[in-house]
Parts: sequence; C-alpha cells; structure tokens
Amino acid sequence: MTQDELFKVLVAHCKEYGFIFPSSEIYDGLAAVYDYGQMGVELKNNIKQYWWNAMTRLNENIVGIDSCIFMHPRIWEASGHVSAFNDPLIDNKDSKKRYRADVLIEDYLGKIEEKIAKEVAKGRKRFGDSFDEAQFRATNPNVLREQAKYDEVHNRYVKAEQASDFAEYRQIIIDCGIVCPISGTCNWTDVRQFNLMFSTSIGSTSEGANTIYLRPETAQGIFVNYLNVQKTGRMKIPFGIAQIGKAFRNEIVARQFIFRMREFEQMEMQFFIKPGTELEWFKNWKEKRMAWHVNLGMGAENYRFHDHEKLAHYANAATDIEFQFPFGFKELEGIHSRTDFDLGNHQKFSGKKIQYFDPETGESFVPYVIETSIGVDRTVLAVLSHAYKEEKLENGETRVVLSIPPALAPVKAAVLPLVKKDGLPEVAQQIMDDLKYDFNCQYDEKDSIGKRYRRQDAIGTPYCITVDHDTLEDHCVTVRDRDTMTQERIPIAELRSLIDKKVNLNNLLRNL
Ligand code: ATP
Repeated sequence: MTQDELFKVLVAHCKEYGFIFPSSEIYDGLAAVYDYGQMGVELKNNIKQYWWNAMTRLNENIVGIDSCIFMHPRIWEASGHVSAFNDPLIDNKDSKKRYRADVLIEDYLGKIEEKIAKEVAKGRKRFGDSFDEAQFRATNPNVLREQAKYDEVHNRYVKAEQASDFAEYRQIIIDCGIVCPISGTCNWTDVRQFNLMFSTSIGSTSEGANTIYLRPETAQGIFVNYLNVQKTGRMKIPFGIAQIGKAFRNEIVARQFIFRMREFEQMEMQFFIKPGTELEWFKNWKEKRMAWHVNLGMGAENYRFHDHEKLAHYANAATDIEFQFPFGFKELEGIHSRTDFDLGNHQKFSGKKIQYFDPETGESFVPYVIETSIGVDRTVLAVLSHAYKEEKLENGETRVVLSIPPALAPVKAAVLPLVKKDGLPEVAQQIMDDLKYDFNCQYDEKDSIGKRYRRQDAIGTPYCITVDHDTLEDHCVTVRDRDTMTQERIPIAELRSLIDKKVNLNNLLRNL
C-alpha cells in the first residue's frame, strides 16, 4: 500500500469505528470541519490529559487556565493578527482551485529533499558499513545536482519571504514549473493576502465596536491573564501558564483530514522568564517537548526539529517539531522564543502596566516568553496514522489493528463471555462493574470470539478478557494481548493490577 492509499484507508477506518466523522454529514458535510465520535473523544481526552498532567502536575511552576474564545477585539490588534495573520493565496485559472503559494513552494522543496534522501539510502545500501554519508553528499553527482537546485530555490524563497515579495513567490512557482495537481497547468493568478480570522458580531464592547473574532490561537487568553495569575497565584519568574482550547482559522487550503481544520484544538503553554535567559529556556523547552513526544513510544526516528530560518520580527528563536505523517514530515508543534512582544504590546494597547517586580533585585521588567504550542488534532492524527496496521496472520487471514500507545487507547479492556448463556454473561458483567471505576471498558457478547477480538483490535483495545466455563470453577479468565495476540490465564482478582501496569497514564508520566 502506498502512503497515499494508507491515508485514505485510515480516514475510512476512523469513520467506520467511531473515531472521526465529517461534520454535518447528513447535509453533505462542511469542508475542513470534523466531529469526534465515541472512540475519538476518548483518545483525544487521553492525549489532553497526558499533556495537561505533564505540564501542570510535573512542573510546580506551571499552572493552567481556561479563558474564553471571545475576547476584546483590541487584543487582536495588539497581537498583530488583524494586520498580519494572512496566508499568501494563488489560484489556478484553469481548475479554479486555490492554493497557498508558500505551501506549493515548500512541497516542491520537500520533493527535492526526498530525492536526495533516496540517493543517500541507495548509497548506504551499496557501500554497507563503510558508507560515509558526508563524503557521499559532497561527491555524488546526483545529490550535488539536486542540492544545487534546492539551494537556489530555497535562497530565493527565503529572500521573498523576508521581503514579503509575493510577485517573487509567483515567479518561483512559474520558474520551477509547479503545476496545479488538478488541471496540470501553470496558469496562475497573482498571489493575494487573505486574513485567516473569522469575525462575528457582539452586542457591543466598551469602545462601541461590535465586530469580534473567534480566537485564532489560545495564547492571547494567557497573555491577557498574565497579571491575574501572577498576582493571585503568587507566581515567581520563571513560571508558566498552560491552556487547552478551541481555535479557529479560515484555512483556505483545507485538505489532509484533521491535519488542517477550520475549528481545531490547541494545547499551549507560555513560560515567562527574565530577559536574557531566553535562549537557555528555549533549548530547555525544545528538549522537554521532544522527550514528551518520544515517550509515547512511536519511534524517535519519526520526529525531527525544523528550525525556522525566517523569524517573525518579535521572535529570536523558533523551531517546529515535525512528525512523519503518511504525507511526509509536517509540523506537529511549534516552540517559539517570543521576547516581550506580546506582553509589551498589551501594555501599550491597554494602557495597563504589565510587569514583574523581582523582589531579589528590586527591578521591574516586562517578562520574556517561551511558547510551546501543539495541536490536539494533529497529535490524534499522528497517533492514528502510526497505529494503523494491516497484519497477515498465520492462518492466512488479515487483521487490522490499531497499536495505539496503551495509555492513550480509548478502551482499555473488553470483557467477553465466551457464550451468551450458562451464567457466563453474569460473571462478565460483574467483572465489568468492578473494572469500570478504573478503566474505560467495553462489554461485548455478540458474534464469535474471533470476530469480537477483531473488533477490539480495530479500535486498539490493549486487553481482551474472556470468561469461559472454567471461570465458574477456577475464577480465572483468559487475557489476550492486542499486540502479541498471546493469551494468558489469570485470576480475576489480578485483573486490575495487570491492566493498570500497562495502561496507567502515570507510568508514562514517570518516564519523562
Ligand atoms: P501551519 O504552518 O501548518 O499552518 P502554524 O505554524 O500556523 O501551522 P501555529 O500557529 O504555530 O501553526 O499553531 C500551533 C499548532 O497548532 C500547530 O503546530 C498545529 O499543531 C496546530 N494547528 C495550527 N493550525 C491548525 C489547523 N488549521 N488545524 C489543525 N491544527 C492546527
């Protein structure tokens, strides 16, 4: 299966098993808006819990808040979103399809990178242990040719980005022969800027304005509550404020399922520090956030940092944590050193003093900020796309299994009476009643045991517990492991501790 096919299969699987549905489906859907079903919401909640506890419980100096989606419209002027939260868009005149010009160029560069990586992989195979990658890259004619092409386009792109030169974006697209995937032509319009914020109206604000925005990020709710939290929580710098919540962006090119949605959820943490210490803290948070991801056990090789070459005017360091999705390495989380841009601007726009008084030095200053910002939905997609597997079994059948990290799995254990009679359902129900306070469990008595195993594999349940006739005598059950499919007979009394060992979120947190 190609990665493209795998992705389509995954989208269908998510719908079939109650993870993710297209929004408003009976009305033919609403583009780039998705609903989470009965399995999806559990997975999503577990991811949020892992993040929330890692931030607020494991760090004594980080607290959480929950601010509103509606905020005073001046906030979005202060933050720069009204004037600068734009995407550069380009239309193909033949297909009438709209694209982000920057994404077209980045995808083109990504393809060159892939070609180079393939050449290097070929070299590694050919030369085996004696392979010297640096030397290969410096001498192989195919790599050199592709690298030169990459460097040329990349340099032009970075310059155009820095100068916000959109005519040059278009020229790069034309010079590289980048065509519309639908029409196959290079017949492009000019590049135009498009603001991504959704607006709506409210009774009125203190200034009489009635246009307000749906927040395009959760971060500003943290900045405007900086003083409230610092004072009421008696927080001492360095300290952080964490928040999970909805954000809205009128994404024009909204494909790739839940990777890019118009309504999505973010988990953001702003860490307030003393000016001058930001690069040290930036490094520290880069390491901590990468460790959080890798700790899920989905393979360190599937993550990488992508340091930004072009920094926003207020940032002095920025990186993305990228994950290897079925459509390539793409951003999962951003880590930014934002200086005093946000608090400084809110101070200016609101006229309120937003500073920190350091009791040790007697100084007052506007704190600097390191931000970590991760998408909940992109994490769900990372987990699901990594978890989905079609396995050939010894008997020739295929099973679809979601090897979701057990602590994140929507259902932790399924309780299955072998038959629907002879008192087995009653015992199974008793086990359910006992386990349900600790774990999300499912009871299933329909169809053959094999079919029931398959259904649980397909939603990623780590354990299946089967109650059979012997259970009535020996008070033992058969426990089947999702990943190894091995079965083990254990006393009912030991079930809780067995499941707990594997699925307890605290075990993940302890590894951090
Ligand atoms: P991209 O370049 O992919 O548009 P971004 O750099 O604009 O993303 P940020 O503003 O840094 O994204 O937002 C932080 C995180 O929020 C991203 O790393 C991503 O996980 C998530 N995110 C941003 N936009 C979307 C979206 N439209 N749908 C789902 N998640 C999103």
